[in-house]
Amino acid sequence: MPPVRELTLVGFSLFSMGAKNLYLQTFGCQMNVYDSERICQLLAARNYRLVEDPSEADLIFLNTCSVRVKPEQKVYSALGRFQALKKKKPTLVIGIGGCLAQQEGGKFLQRFPYLDFVLGTKEFGRINEVLDDLEVLGKRGLAISLDGRIDPYASLPFPPSSSKATAFVSIMQGCDNFCSFCIVPYVRGREVSRPSRDILEEIRTLAAQRVKEVTLLGQNVNSYGNKTPGEIGFTGLLEAIQEIQGIERIRFTTSHPKDLSRALIDSFGRLSKLCEHIHLPLQSGSNRLLKRMNRGYSGEEYLERVDGLREACPEISVTSDVIVGFPGEEEADFQSTLDLVERVQFDDLFSFKYSDRPYTRAAEFHDKIPEDVSRRRLRELQALQRGITLKRNKLWEGKEVEVLVEGQSKANAEENMGRTRTNHIVNFPGKSDPHGTLVWLRIEKAFAHSLRGERRS
Ligand code: SF4
Repeated sequence: MPPVRELTLVGFSLFSMGAKNLYLQTFGCQMNVYDSERICQLLAARNYRLVEDPSEADLIFLNTCSVRVKPEQKVYSALGRFQALKKKKPTLVIGIGGCLAQQEGGKFLQRFPYLDFVLGTKEFGRINEVLDDLEVLGKRGLAISLDGRIDPYASLPFPPSSSKATAFVSIMQGCDNFCSFCIVPYVRGREVSRPSRDILEEIRTLAAQRVKEVTLLGQNVNSYGNKTPGEIGFTGLLEAIQEIQGIERIRFTTSHPKDLSRALIDSFGRLSKLCEHIHLPLQSGSNRLLKRMNRGYSGEEYLERVDGLREACPEISVTSDVIVGFPGEEEADFQSTLDLVERVQFDDLFSFKYSDRPYTRAAEFHDKIPEDVSRRRLRELQALQRGITLKRNKLWEGKEVEVLVEGQSKANAEENMGRTRTNHIVNFPGKSDPHGTLVWLRIEKAFAHSLRGERRS
């Protein structure tokens, strides 16, 4: 499961001609960011332009996440704030999409009478149809079908567009794994792979727009194409992207350890454009809990995969997700997680406290862990990982690395920020490198969350 974050999309390049204002807030994973970009394209055709201030908006759209309790709570508090705006400006349209919209469906319209429409995870392509119904018939919209035959991207009237050097590309939707803590199969449906023909065409279009790096998205990219007779598998897809001129870097997320094949491991040593980074969610180091989570691998098997990756590609960086306080987690289970984290030496780790999610099996487990115990375990795990991350980052000091410039440094407007192939953030002096430039830097100093580079002399 990719890390959860929140962002507001502003300044999307298609919006210079707009007559109406759109405020779009995206919660959750990269899949939602990708969907939000496509929603922006659809609304650009309706003359909407993005604004940063919700009080200027004619349309507010929230693309939501329900993978954990926290992003869900943020959506409810945002809705409360926007209700106040609608009282002042009754023509304001408020819509909601994404996983929480799929989860709650029509209940959202009942509970929030000021909400105008709800779009499920496979239905965002119908946003203009729903807005037509609202404008012409005054009808509040609800579109939440999870029909496995729907490819939400196939029906979009526009090719993807990016003004940046990096782009996300969805290669599949949904998941068949039913990990006992996870809501994704219920809100994104069963796993459906997009045709490789469409994906490759999309990436060629992006390459023509000078995109240099693509990140392939899916809940479990390792099983790409497995359910479609005659379709190329995931390594076949990577090989085909390797041949696309203009694309310099390929990334993907997320990989399920149980489906990480030998062929994919070997691809890291074989495909020059495949970046040396893998996000491989561990979730727990306890075999008892991994079984209860329905993860389909043991701690030993996880380690074997990581060892195989490092053998195939010694410089690979490995990041992961861990849940603490899963129902029934005893001190010994938690210690097994600490031991495995210590043994693997992740470059970075996204760790979370377990929270009950509707429909999931774990929500029915009775042996929940008290909040204070989960909190203490999270602190302990994060302290351990902080030390490991800094130690791993220090290994980069003195090395020369290729960095793709992504823009201004957040900490210092006089500096650039970019990423190494291993996905480390590097800040370095200079404002002259336009985004999308590949530069070679020498790493002078490592910090907990970033590296500092200087131009190679
Ligand atoms: S693999 Fe498990 S955790 Fe990941 S999306 Fe599927 S059910 Fe959720």
